[in-house]
Amino acid sequence: MRDETKTVHAGRHPDQHDGAVNPPVYHASTILSPTVEDWERKKRARAADEPGVYYGRFGTPTTQALEEAVAALEGGYRSLVYPSGLAACHGALMALLAAGDHVLMPDSVYAPTRALGARLLQRFGVATTFYDPLVGSGIASQMRPNTRVVFVESPGSLTFEVQDVPAIAAAAHARGALVVMDNTWGTPLYFRPFAHGVDVSVQAATKYIVGHSDAMLGVVTCSRETWPRVRAYTHETGQTAGPDDVYLAQRGLRTLAVRLARHWENGVALAQWVARQPEVERVLHPALPDDPGHALWRRDFTGACGLFGVVLREGVSERALAALLDGLELYGIGASWGGYESLVMPMRPAELRTATVWPHKGPAFRVHAGLEAIDDLVRDLEAGFARLRAAL
Ligand SMILES: *Cc1c(COP(=O)(O)O)cnc(C)c1O
Repeated sequence: MRDETKTVHAGRHPDQHDGAVNPPVYHASTILSPTVEDWERKKRARAADEPGVYYGRFGTPTTQALEEAVAALEGGYRSLVYPSGLAACHGALMALLAAGDHVLMPDSVYAPTRALGARLLQRFGVATTFYDPLVGSGIASQMRPNTRVVFVESPGSLTFEVQDVPAIAAAAHARGALVVMDNTWGTPLYFRPFAHGVDVSVQAATKYIVGHSDAMLGVVTCSRETWPRVRAYTHETGQTAGPDDVYLAQRGLRTLAVRLARHWENGVALAQWVARQPEVERVLHPALPDDPGHALWRRDFTGACGLFGVVLREGVSERALAALLDGLELYGIGASWGGYESLVMPMRPAELRTATVWPHKGPAFRVHAGLEAIDDLVRDLEAGFARLRAAL
């Protein structure tokens, strides 16, 4: 089955829900047993990890529909819903690490994930080292005997470096470490983590899976081997999400393929237009042929989402950038992305680096290309660059 077909059909079981196309939203904590015998049977079944509905915290048919669909799309064994993308990153790491272990994280990792490594994990006796995201198989030289997890995020947050995930995975596995990937940019449709050697994949479903900027959610997808540990940690720590938000994610997923195609198209068109502006030093978008990550992106990805970065020339002031961004009519200024609408956000990647040096001096911003008509999006940016020039 192709991905577009899977997004429509995976996890739906109309025969189990009176023929309803969408799995109903179960508002449930207690799941009743008609007899003591059934109660005991359910207890055994849950302990043996048999599919079923046992208690609201472990998921209802609403939760299971989303988990089943995401696992099918990512190519993993099974998935678990978390209340946010960051909570999912935390769950994947905590499930696989213990005091005395070492974890490697790319210098371009999502900033709150960086903080997890530098602060939370540290408090529990796990050492974190940040590495050059472009290291490839050279990761081997940074591994220690106690390195248990190599975290990857490709392309990197804010700066969009494409990582050689298969090479990193081969080096990690050769030394007994697991690979955890934040696959939010690639989405389950444009990057197949498990086919590229990843052991646990995280989606900030808040982004494209929910897709409408109206709910927070995360999903962790596991290989067969990592499933028991991640499931245990998730259930032991009571990770759960509200059924209405889970339903919104499941509803969003059904149109993911068509939405992404337009985000991709608009993102590339905007990136190309921006790259032609004389005040722009570099556009950070791996689908552009002159991007340093383009060859790897072509090899490993089957598409691009709508998120990319722009670096302005040295000497362009922060004030001029603010003039560009402040007057935009169609692009909101805000964090997060993956909704139907366009966004911009100023960024300072240099402040987040410890293993590498951000080579650019000019101010930078991030763009999320929404689903608006491309002509309108370009015209709005055109006016923005005119304001930037007037403020230079
Ligand atoms: C937004 C984001 C997250 C966190 O997701 P939330 O749902 O906002 O917690 C994790 N990773 C990446 C790459 C993100 O962009």
